[in-house]
Amino acid sequence: MGESNHIDIWRRCLQIIKNNVPDPVYRTWFEPVKPVSLKDNLLTIEVPSDAHMRQLEEMPLIDILAKTLKRVLGNSVKLQYNIQYPKTTLQYPHQNEQVASNRPIPFPRSDKESLNPFIIPGIRKLTIEPNLNPKYSFENFIEGVCNRLARSAGERVAQSPGNNPFCPLFIHGGSGLGKTHLSQAIGLKVKELHPDKIVLYVSAHVFKTQYQEAVVGNNITSFMHFYEQIDVLIIDDVQVFTTPGTQNVFFHIFNYLHQAGKQIILTSDVAPGRLQGIETRLLQRFKWGLSAELLPPDYETRVKIFKAKSANEGIVLPDDVVEYLANKVTGSVRELEGTILTLLAHSTFNREDITIDLAKKVTKQIVNVDSSELSLEKIRSVVCDYFKITPELIVSKTRKREIVQARQITMYLVRNLTKASLASIGSQMGGKDHATVLHACSTVSDLIDTDRSIRKYVSDLERQLKPGKQL
Ligand code: ADP
Ligand code: MG
Repeated sequence: MGESNHIDIWRRCLQIIKNNVPDPVYRTWFEPVKPVSLKDNLLTIEVPSDAHMRQLEEMPLIDILAKTLKRVLGNSVKLQYNIQYPKTTLQYPHQNEQVASNRPIPFPRSDKESLNPFIIPGIRKLTIEPNLNPKYSFENFIEGVCNRLARSAGERVAQSPGNNPFCPLFIHGGSGLGKTHLSQAIGLKVKELHPDKIVLYVSAHVFKTQYQEAVVGNNITSFMHFYEQIDVLIIDDVQVFTTPGTQNVFFHIFNYLHQAGKQIILTSDVAPGRLQGIETRLLQRFKWGLSAELLPPDYETRVKIFKAKSANEGIVLPDDVVEYLANKVTGSVRELEGTILTLLAHSTFNREDITIDLAKKVTKQIVNVDSSELSLEKIRSVVCDYFKITPELIVSKTRKREIVQARQITMYLVRNLTKASLASIGSQMGGKDHATVLHACSTVSDLIDTDRSIRKYVSDLERQLKPGKQL
């Protein structure tokens, strides 16, 4: 198999998959995947996110994917994922040019003038691509007691950005509860009501990388100046602002925008008071406005979400199924969405009607995972006790065989027993990247098949961690 035909190969796979899965499943999970390379029967594909990859690895998607790949590439085919991170390179717009918002914004010429923050931009307007996804609208954001405060504050902000008591508006809540959706909805609404306002949504991760690139490229002034022109600045997941450099530059931008009466919207996975590693002066700023929490959806809201989201996928769930699901699946909105897609996929693959029985079958897998209260820390400490090594050693850089093995087993167990993402497992296991974690997991699962002592370690550990579960 040559190296360059990964594109053709993937196209053939897609054709097969397309004929075998429901259209929404195909569009959501397979269409966004891009082939990267094919070498020695190892096909590398790029997926938009860690969550996306995890869904592909779940039944029944993994089943169809594996069967298709084997059909096209033979039984020895291997699959590897690349996670596509958002593009980070910040492009600074010209000051005096109208730039069509769908075109990439050109990088400034290095004329000093455009870098001078005291030069007021010309009369002609500046356009910046706001990075908003139309599907994250208020209309699609289902209201419930769990999100009422945050939602109505968001609506108020969108009505009169910068001119309201919520400056900044700080939205916090656990993963999958709608922070990104709601913050984007505010941006979209502002664009609708006040088309002249410059709105920008940026993930804190991207902001951080842009800043680091600006430091390297000696572009800090342009970087700051760019952000100082925004009327409504949305920064998603500010808990990642942990380094002094990023905090400092953000502090200045924050003060500048605040004084200019601009709107700032921040999201985080914890309340402002519980942000770790963030300087007090910045925390104080966060408290100037309103902090509103998104809670896990309550029963009534879960019912609404199941109904609305299934209707979006073109299916009508019988009332008893909705009721059953709303009782059983009690996690984040993202999990509710996953349940619907799984249900839909199952019903189409097996040509089954969506009944309580099918719902039971589907939620059994999900609820099992849910009920696990295991954390990475817990697993790591059980593994350390088991192998009689210290927690410092397991996350250290040492390449000693026993330590490497314990580290890999930890990653394998965390991956299988919790919902931690590859990236977060990596970072908490001594600053590894997601590829290292994936590699560790596949090494351990190969060894389980071939090495008796490893098999025993893993099953001992699993028994300790999950008494009811067999390997
Ligand atoms: P977070 O950023 O908090 O991790 P997201 O905003 O990405 O969560 O939400 C996860 C998924 O759940 C998204 O697909 C989003 O559209 C959906 N979602 C979250 N809250 C709601 C809601 N209230 N109504 C409808 N969909 C929601
Ligand atoms: Mg988010």
